Amino acid sequence: MHSPNQIIYEFSHTRSEPPAPHPIAPRRQDIEWLFTALFDAYGPRNWWPTVHGGSFELVVGAILVQNISWGNVERALVNMRDTDVWSFPSILETPDEEMHEIIRPSGYYKAKTRKLKEFAEFIISRYDGDLDRLFALPIDEMREQLLSVWGIGEETADDIILYGAHKPSFVIDTYTKRLLGRLGWEIRGNSYSAYQQLFHEMLPHDTYLFNEYHALIDHHVARFCKKKPLCDRCVLANDCPVGLGITQP
Ligand code: SF4
Repeated sequence: MHSPNQIIYEFSHTRSEPPAPHPIAPRRQDIEWLFTALFDAYGPRNWWPTVHGGSFELVVGAILVQNISWGNVERALVNMRDTDVWSFPSILETPDEEMHEIIRPSGYYKAKTRKLKEFAEFIISRYDGDLDRLFALPIDEMREQLLSVWGIGEETADDIILYGAHKPSFVIDTYTKRLLGRLGWEIRGNSYSAYQQLFHEMLPHDTYLFNEYHALIDHHVARFCKKKPLCDRCVLANDCPVGLGITQP
């Protein structure tokens, strides 16, 4: 694994062709260009964001962040730490109503309470509560195990694999889909696995590269490529059909 501030990939800085009015299938140079453009603009993001740090917090945060912004998750994590619900056994022991109040800031607190308890049950019963034993599995096996837990979908599983186990599984989210769509890139199938396959086929399977790439996309989209995009302030505007006014957002 590479150190957090080390970037080893120097991809092409320019796209070989101007943006097209119609969607195109992205090529390797497009995927490489996007990474370089975002990295040059924002620098390393050094994800995963933490409050106290550690694998337990990473997994809990990956579950709580579903459908909500990270700021809300931080408040829930602080509540969990302050009330000493800071281990998988303590999650199981805490009555549902109490958990609801503790993680309320993260939204969907009833469903997320169940998800946390399902995961706690899983990791205790299968791995004696030891995340490192889960993280030691090969990626495909770990992913299969994670997806077997109620409430763990593909994005959450890949968050845990990439940022928790530090193994290369590219994370796809709604921000990724929005950005690629606005750049005029059409992904055949439009499914989570189709997007992931694109990055897996076009890039070296490197944990640090996947870590930074996903974090850079989220950083960029959250600030500029919003539902109503701020194209006049966007570093990608000259290479984006929406930014150039060729297509609508
Ligand atoms: S130019 Fe506009 S639509 Fe294109 S990536 Fe930037 S903010 Fe998004």
